[in-house]
Amino acid sequence: MRPYILAENHWRTVEETPYEVAILPWGATEAHNYHLPYGTDVFEAEAVAAEAARIAWESGAKVTVLPCIPFGVNTGQFDVKLDINMNPSTQLAVLRDIVEVLNRQGIHKLIILNSHGGNDFKTMIRELGLAYPKMFLCQCHWFRALDQKQYFENKDDHAGEMETSVIMHLRPELVRPLSEAGDGAAKSFRMKGIQEGWAWAERTWLKVTKDTGVGDPRKASAEKGERFFKDVTEKVAEFVREVAEVDRDDLYA
Ligand SMILES: [Zn+2]
Repeated sequence: MRPYILAENHWRTVEETPYEVAILPWGATEAHNYHLPYGTDVFEAEAVAAEAARIAWESGAKVTVLPCIPFGVNTGQFDVKLDINMNPSTQLAVLRDIVEVLNRQGIHKLIILNSHGGNDFKTMIRELGLAYPKMFLCQCHWFRALDQKQYFENKDDHAGEMETSVIMHLRPELVRPLSEAGDGAAKSFRMKGIQEGWAWAERTWLKVTKDTGVGDPRKASAEKGERFFKDVTEKVAEFVREVAEVDRDDLYA
């Protein structure tokens, strides 16, 4: 039983623990090239949340990890078999219900730990922040917490070298041989503004990639995954600690 994982605890313990911050891991259920499982984003979100919470808990932060939400925004992957889309408006409804519980019970800090590129909770945080002024709401894209170039040769957007390495480390039994993986080659938008990142439009996934991956996974290894996972969870844990410690009414320096 890990005291920082809500699902593994019992009512008496939960009643007695003065939690300061909740972490909500949020994943997606979707194809990840030919070699990674559909649950990749869920496994990552759960594992990063649990390890970051463990480190933070052991340094005194009263943190609880909520069960992972397994469905993400997959509006662009509508034709990929069994990619389960959860619309942003549904995500807002789910988030509102969770925030309502936390707010009512005086757990006034929530970190949404996001694992999926299509998920973005920023506008929802703005809207819910207005409705629940006592709550400190934030999102954390753990996969952006470190410079991936220090760990991997090829850039990863989806099911590439980083994700493959991390899942080889976390769930090696679920990874197909890399010889079966596609190269993750992907097309870009023709418009320069979108290529440069200051304009944005959604990609229709199967028009961009043949194997559903974006990013070459073939240089991935469990060793690279282990090193990245260790460093990234320490960095996320530091953020969890900071959120736990900060005075809700004195956030700015
Ligand atoms: Zn993924």
